[in-house]
Amino acid sequence: MKTYQEMTLAERQAEYAALCRTHQEQKALGLDLNMARGKPGREQLDMVMEMYNIPLTADDFITDGIDARNYGYVAGIPIARRLFADLLGCKPGQVIAGGNSSLEMMFDAVSKAYTHGLLHSEKPWGKLDRVKWICPVPGYDRHFKVTESFGMELLSVPMTETGPDMDRVEQLIRDPEVRGMWNVPKYSNPTGITYSLETIHRLAAMKPAAPDFMLMWDNAYCVHELEGDFVPFPDILSLCAEYGNGDMVYEFASTSKITFPGAGIACGAVSEANVEYFKNLLNIQIISYDKMNQLRHVRYLKDKETTLALMRRHAAILGPKFRAVEDELDRHLAPWGIASWSHPKGGYFVSLDAMPGTARRALELCRDAGVTMTAAGATFPYGVDPQDSNIRIAPSLPPVHELEQAIAILCDCLRMAALEKLGI
Ligand code: PMP
Repeated sequence: MKTYQEMTLAERQAEYAALCRTHQEQKALGLDLNMARGKPGREQLDMVMEMYNIPLTADDFITDGIDARNYGYVAGIPIARRLFADLLGCKPGQVIAGGNSSLEMMFDAVSKAYTHGLLHSEKPWGKLDRVKWICPVPGYDRHFKVTESFGMELLSVPMTETGPDMDRVEQLIRDPEVRGMWNVPKYSNPTGITYSLETIHRLAAMKPAAPDFMLMWDNAYCVHELEGDFVPFPDILSLCAEYGNGDMVYEFASTSKITFPGAGIACGAVSEANVEYFKNLLNIQIISYDKMNQLRHVRYLKDKETTLALMRRHAAILGPKFRAVEDELDRHLAPWGIASWSHPKGGYFVSLDAMPGTARRALELCRDAGVTMTAAGATFPYGVDPQDSNIRIAPSLPPVHELEQAIAILCDCLRMAALEKLGI
């Protein structure tokens, strides 16, 4: 079989005409398929409803002498801090168990840098002329939006198979205006890449010119294997401390994709000195997060072992969806030599690189046929992919038969866009 580059003009024209006919038929089906966001599917949410079946008496809400039903303890109840420490491999005293969203905690940490300054800030960032921030690309659109919303200058650094291009990162941090960096170190959004040990050590050892540099370590997918056993991962807090950088790192995690997105529990994990610093500010901001939800979660998830057992049940639902996407891509796209894609072992996304200059057009065609994907460019700062190539696929929400239908349509649209680009 010929790739599109090998085809003659006449062959490409015939191929395009056939695809256009199929596209018209697909449009007529009036489909409404959505693979835009990494939301757990209905089956996963139904499964974790068992959390609400655990009977809790009044006494159950009192742990370590603390009543979860009352105000206070802004760093969370100790059993919730212990659970997150267990999952992340850090110390309970380094954990702030917060509300229902880790993204909110990330936004809040950056916001505090602007309004109050951080532990080692010379002044609040709001008083600085310029703030720059490192964004590994492709990356998580909501991360980029957070830093963009504060008016920062976002600096793209390419992701490699082992994590961000560290030579580039080490060069950029010599600039004192570069004050932070986003990271999703395990099963990265969207590439699925897990940082290598060498990358992690180089990041932990960095000596940025900015005294209050924020190494944002969003461990959103810390226990989210799609197949096989849990893959252990280094504790970034102790590594940074070993390199004399204990206060540089801000780790985050949540149970959004363990229990309920938007109704789970989230945490930040930082050095003990930073816990004190942030607790002082948080105590002004809020009297207590929802500790009853924290308690309910710990009663259900118990410890790392029990949580990992639940994650294997999630994987049993998600695994077939990811395999369906890969099978469809192999079948409908591989022969034409116009795209490559990731084969994630965990997380929530497949990252596809289309022929440069065709992603936007392909997704426009998809929309016409009733398939919504994450907008082209979303995985880059300011929503602009300079190559117009990367497409994020989120297989978790639709049932398998819908996924197969949606990916088949996506493949056809990528083929049409590629043929248009090559000339027809
Ligand atoms: N970080 C990453 C990398 C994510 O992919 C997501 C969800 N898509 C979040 C954070 C959001 O987490 P939360 O629900 O805890 O705010």
